[in-house]
Amino acid sequence: MENSKTTILRNRPQPNVTYPLKVIYCGHCTLPVEYCEYYPEYDRCKLWLQQNLPAEFEKLISISGGIDDENSEEKKRQKRGGKGMIKTKKKEGPKQICVSRATRGKKKSVTVVTGLNSFGIDLKIAAKFFGTKFACGSSVVGDDEIVIQGDVKDDLFEIIPEKWSEIDEDFIEDLGDLKR
Ligand SMILES: [Zn+2]
Repeated sequence: MENSKTTILRNRPQPNVTYPLKVIYCGHCTLPVEYCEYYPEYDRCKLWLQQNLPAEFEKLISISGGIDDENSEEKKRQKRGGKGMIKTKKKEGPKQICVSRATRGKKKSVTVVTGLNSFGIDLKIAAKFFGTKFACGSSVVGDDEIVIQGDVKDDLFEIIPEKWSEIDEDFIEDLGDLKR
């Protein structure tokens, strides 16, 4: 049984070597057939297998696909490229400032400003500016939020673009009244 195969195999291990039990070498690339797929001329390897070891060829293609999978190889490559392109795209958060009024207690309102950070504005400086401008308490809360004591929301549409010329009034969205 072994003999019929031996005649067509090359680089066969020594007869006294019992392990690996059964290695079949490719006549095209001379590697064991399971490594053919790493060989650049894999299609030629498959062709050789198909002609010389049809049984092994059947096994191989049932795992890795048909002989003319050049197209799928192409697709894989394109997919990989596509992913790379997405990766290089810089992620940027939306530039938007939101102002809203929130009620505290029965008749007290505060004004909440979010998004100044997205314009690269120092929140501490901004909070101080608002406090001075409106003569009221103003503090930084969280990552990108300033709470101004008092209802000054409508004034902010004028004051913010005035103070920071890069912020157009259109960048400021009025969220209205929020319950806090
Ligand atoms: Zn090969």
